[in-house]
Amino acid sequence: MTQCLFCGVVRGDIPAKILHRDDRIVAFEDINPQAPVHTLLIPVKHIQSLSEAGEEDRELLGDLLLAAGRLARERGVDATGYRVVTNCREAAGQSVFHLHVHLLGGRRFAWPPG
Ligand code: 5GP
Ligand code: ZN
Repeated sequence: MTQCLFCGVVRGDIPAKILHRDDRIVAFEDINPQAPVHTLLIPVKHIQSLSEAGEEDRELLGDLLLAAGRLARERGVDATGYRVVTNCREAAGQSVFHLHVHLLGGRRFAWPPG
């Protein structure tokens, strides 16, 4: 997906503050943070959103959530609480169409979300 912004981050074409990288997952700081900790976790594989993930992605999706939990501990927000979100489709707030998980922490969050 040459046109995809987050595929550009994976390739290194788009500069980003990378916090973690392995052969399946990249985690980096959100460019417009909505909380003191706002990290994005993406699969290296281009998947448009959660709706396009399939049974073949079962392990990858599990890895993404486990990596989010690990980063929450590393970034020091585990004890105070954090939120993990994936926006799916434009009406839900998705603006980059490469599956990503937001890890947000370091402040209180309202529920329900806006
Ligand atoms: P979405 O709105 O799709 O759920 O989340 C996309 C996120 O990507 C937003 O929080 C936005 O701030 C972030 N974002 C957009 N462009 C860039 C970029 O070029 N670099 C980084 N690091 N984050 C970006
Ligand atoms: Zn992509």
